[in-house]
Amino acid sequence: MKKLVILGAGTGGTIMANKMRKALDRDEWDITIIDQFKTHYYQPGFFILYIFIKI
Ligand SMILES: Cc1cc2nc3c(=O)[nH]c(=O)nc-3n(C[C@H](O)[C@H](O)[C@H](O)COP(=O)(O)OP(=O)(O)OC[C@H]3O[C@@H](n4cnc5c(N)ncnc54)[C@H](O)[C@@H]3O)c2cc1C
Repeated sequence: MKKLVILGAGTGGTIMANKMRKALDRDEWDITIIDQFKTHYYQPGFFILYIFIKI
């Protein structure tokens, strides 16, 4: 089994993991994504929260 390790599960890391999962054969490639946090919050979405708080 080939291994692909992605460091950082932020915006770039999660996009890359999703793209590579679709591009690489599931039986041939194992994808691991490493981050200090278990949850990623999409930062541009914070602006929507700010707008709701201000209204
Ligand atoms: C409020 C806000 C609004 C934004 N709005 C926009 C927008 O409208 N449009 C736009 O294009 N951009 C916007 N941005 C910027 C955009 O969110 C960032 O440019 C983007 O998240 C960067 O992606 P990244 O994958 O490089 O880093 P990140 O998404 O920050 O991911 C890096 C990951 O690496 C992990 N990591 C770092 N060091 C370590 C370590 N030593 N060990 C383990 N894990 C580690 C972190 O925990 C993190 O999960 C906004 C940012 C903020 C804060």
